Amino acid sequence: MMTTANLDPSDGAGTAGVPVASRWHSVSSTREYDRCPRRYRYGYVDRLPQDRHVPIPWRIGSAVHAALEAAYRSKQDHARQPLVDGLPAALVALRRAWDGLELPHDDRYRRAGQQVARTLRQDVLEVDEVVGVELPLRDDLAPGHRVAGFLDLLLRRGPSTLEIVDHKVTGRRATTTEVAGDLQLNLYGTLVLARWPETTEVRATLHYPTGPDRVTVTLTVQGMTTARRRVEHTAAVIATDIDFTPRPGPHCDHCPWQPRCPAARG
Ligand code: SF4
Repeated sequence: MMTTANLDPSDGAGTAGVPVASRWHSVSSTREYDRCPRRYRYGYVDRLPQDRHVPIPWRIGSAVHAALEAAYRSKQDHARQPLVDGLPAALVALRRAWDGLELPHDDRYRRAGQQVARTLRQDVLEVDEVVGVELPLRDDLAPGHRVAGFLDLLLRRGPSTLEIVDHKVTGRRATTTEVAGDLQLNLYGTLVLARWPETTEVRATLHYPTGPDRVTVTLTVQGMTTARRRVEHTAAVIATDIDFTPRPGPHCDHCPWQPRCPAARG
């Protein structure tokens, strides 16, 4: 994921201090606000271009995401074919994303290609039916405020079972407890239930192409309700904020708007 501001569909119409008629919220956007209101304003209200280059590991992650997206779209279009048949499309997408993200064609490019190929050959997700890839889901949060999310992948696992998949191009593996409590996955769960109300089980999976391996849990009503309430609470606070006061802290070190922020540390 390259930048939350680019990928989250917060409409952010208007400027800071000006009431906004309607705004999209997500776990990413509300987390950004909780971390630092000014950083939220730069990214989601003013929608300023980032002052700092996105670090290379993040860009590599975005390129691998693009490759997986192409492979799973191919699987969605050709359900009977093995996932690995999408490898040529995935490698084309990898190359395109790699160049678009201005990444160097060194050994990391070769390793990323190998990682994608291994992931598709091993197919640890055991994909059968793909419901959606980079799937946008939306729902009303409250009058004038809506919640939205992009699912990396949504799989059907049975007549009333759906599985949300988030690709993670990281070395560290989450525990099942962490996945069960993950706010983003739980919020996605509420969006899935709103769109497919006949669903009786929503699973959530973190999929690690770096293995490849996976961590899967079944989401609970309590976990999904908690995530929803948390986003609703922060959305209500945002609706009344007119200052977006900076909240400096250790997170400033990775803030893409640090050069312009009057409160930046150091
Ligand atoms: S530099 Fe720090 S205080 Fe300023 S917007 Fe970024 S995170 Fe907030």
